[in-house]
Amino acid sequence: MTIGGVTAGGAPITLPDLEAISVGVLRGVGERRAAALEAFGITTVLDLVTTYPRRWIDRSAQTSVADLVPERPQLLLVTVRTVEKRPTRGRRSMVTATVGDGTGRLHVVFFNQPWREKQLREGLEIALFGRATVYRGGLQMTNPLVDLIGDRTGRIVPVYPQSEKVQIATWEMAGWVAEALRRCAERTLADPVPEAVRARLKMMSRHVALNAIHTPETMAEKDEARRRLAFDELLRVQLVLVMRKRRLEREQRGVTHVLDGDLVHRFHAGLPYALTGAQQRVIAEIERDLAAPHPMHRLLQGDVGAGKTVVAVSALLTAVQGGHQGALMAPTEVLAEQHATGVRELLDGFVVSDSTNLFGDRPVRVELLTNRVTGAERKAVLEGLAEGTVDIAIGTHALIQEGVKFASLGVAVVDEQHRFGVEQRAALRDKATDSVPDVLVMTATPIPRTAAMTVYGDLDVSVLDELPPGRTPIHTRSAVGPLLEAEVWEDVRSEVAAGRQAYVVCPLIEESDKLEVASAEETLARLGAGELAGLRLGLLHGRLSAADKAATMDEFRAGAIDVLVATTVIEVGVDVPNATIMAILDADRFGIAQLHQLRGRVGRGRHASRCWLVTGLQQSEPDLFDEVETAEGRSASGPNPRIEALVASTDGFELAEVDLELRGEGTLMSTSQKGRSDLRLASLRKDRELVELARAAAEEIVDADPELDTHVILRAELELLFSDRQEEFLTKS
Ligand code: ADP
Ligand code: MG
Repeated sequence: MTIGGVTAGGAPITLPDLEAISVGVLRGVGERRAAALEAFGITTVLDLVTTYPRRWIDRSAQTSVADLVPERPQLLLVTVRTVEKRPTRGRRSMVTATVGDGTGRLHVVFFNQPWREKQLREGLEIALFGRATVYRGGLQMTNPLVDLIGDRTGRIVPVYPQSEKVQIATWEMAGWVAEALRRCAERTLADPVPEAVRARLKMMSRHVALNAIHTPETMAEKDEARRRLAFDELLRVQLVLVMRKRRLEREQRGVTHVLDGDLVHRFHAGLPYALTGAQQRVIAEIERDLAAPHPMHRLLQGDVGAGKTVVAVSALLTAVQGGHQGALMAPTEVLAEQHATGVRELLDGFVVSDSTNLFGDRPVRVELLTNRVTGAERKAVLEGLAEGTVDIAIGTHALIQEGVKFASLGVAVVDEQHRFGVEQRAALRDKATDSVPDVLVMTATPIPRTAAMTVYGDLDVSVLDELPPGRTPIHTRSAVGPLLEAEVWEDVRSEVAAGRQAYVVCPLIEESDKLEVASAEETLARLGAGELAGLRLGLLHGRLSAADKAATMDEFRAGAIDVLVATTVIEVGVDVPNATIMAILDADRFGIAQLHQLRGRVGRGRHASRCWLVTGLQQSEPDLFDEVETAEGRSASGPNPRIEALVASTDGFELAEVDLELRGEGTLMSTSQKGRSDLRLASLRKDRELVELARAAAEEIVDADPELDTHVILRAELELLFSDRQEEFLTKS
């Protein structure tokens, strides 16, 4: 027997083998079906067999119509008897059907699913999952989950993703998959995971797993199969990341920093507060990396207000005290400017040794470099960087542009990682003349550890998990609709009357900077003439000149402005302890991380702080029908879950979990990390343990065989799944 020209009796079948076979060789896949499958993203047998069932219906869990219990979610296997489209008032459509099994009949009603009329033909065998309710004395199901399973046998019926549009049914998918697997049976599937690892983790072979996920005997067997195949997906991602990390460690020569200078000590001693335990621990972790010969690649996760700046400046000064330079890169000009101001303040009065100078030292020189720094000023900064007289450069991506040369870049800190990609980090590293600088990436939007392990898998992770003492928790409330909004402005007025200050954050308009500025100006005018009349209002947005921005911030800091109406430019870095109340308008347009970050601008002083999340009235009509509980099912209506999360928690790590839950992990990873196959089964959120196991296994494998020379099958899989879109990801660093 042959499959697509590959002779039987050969070695076990690999993923590249399956990739080489077109689905057209399968029985029942003619030109038309092949085209339909292609429209569905399936062209090869590999695509087909890695299209996993969405659900499995366990027939042993089914109920008969006669045994239905009202209000409990239940599974029925029934035959369609009649289908009818009913006219209704309004725009809603209604399709009703009668279904039955040997024991009785049941009414089913579908609202707003007009296509059910065509889908549910008389005589069709379907699985229904839903709650029955008592209606006019009989039982009825409203909007149940429907699977057309056909007359499939077997205790467990897999339900595949299907497509109305290209007319692919689940039983067709099942048939093709079964045939493909049958034709693999003789040679079996190759297993790339070393026997020892598999035995230790108690995992079934890939061959058994792939068969069991498609046609399990029991649900438990399906779970085992899923565990194995999800592990494979995670292992591949981790292998790529670990190989890349090890390669960097092996090949790059970094700066070996000296830790015995006194600049850093003086800096710590001069702070008006004691470092928190977490800050001390993280600084020690960083210093250990800095003293090592290979370059640091470290991620610093710390909640808003955890005190990351001091940690960053410590790292920069470690470079400076050894005669190197430091760079701090921020995602926006405003943030860079704020960092420059802040760092200059922190380093005011500090000197570094300078033998060319009569006194043997000079002040630490901190310079700003953004696209707004132009002309003679820019020239001076660039010269200083090239000569080494600028100790610390703070800027935007302008720092990594062509034409910017450092005499000796020792440490680079990248703030707010969520807007910086792997590529920018690489460009920053390339700024080094001979040795690669140490890189610290900071983020205030922490992500769960196992997700970090994957998303930032080539970085080591430090966590700043302790807030400085004396913070007052921020009380967050949501204000929905105009009535509650009036209360918000009352609240702002009374806070100002008590001598405090306020922020009003204007609606986010991601598409246009210009519109956002316009909306900020409008908000200022509206509030100044209305709800906040008589208060001293100030305006801050990204299009103001640096000087105007600085002037406004100075006024606000000095208390000459009561209410600062601002765009998201205040997201990071703004620190005015007397500001105790914030109102975020159209809060439902922001993401969780951004709201949390914005909220972190208050709660920085002794006084209790509040944050109002203002939204309009909910537009969606109330859901009249029961939502069926399914794995995927989530109610779309109701209060905004992001806002609810912010109201419920001020813990950035907890919010990060919710965020991951709501957005799904797909949004976290860059394409280069996903590979072509993506994570089809594995979930960074649900499979934490598997992520850890995969990471450990990847390290074990790579440390014993850095280029996978003895793991030919594994290596070929990685090349197949990661290389076509992102070849250099595997081969280069
Ligand atoms: P973030 O982690 O959000 O960047 P910052 O570095 O801006 O936090 O620090 C927030 C505030 O906490 C600043 O006002 C800073 O001066 C203060 N701070 C930092 N570390 C400590 C500490 N150990 N004790 C008291 N205050 C601190
Ligand atoms: Mg910060």
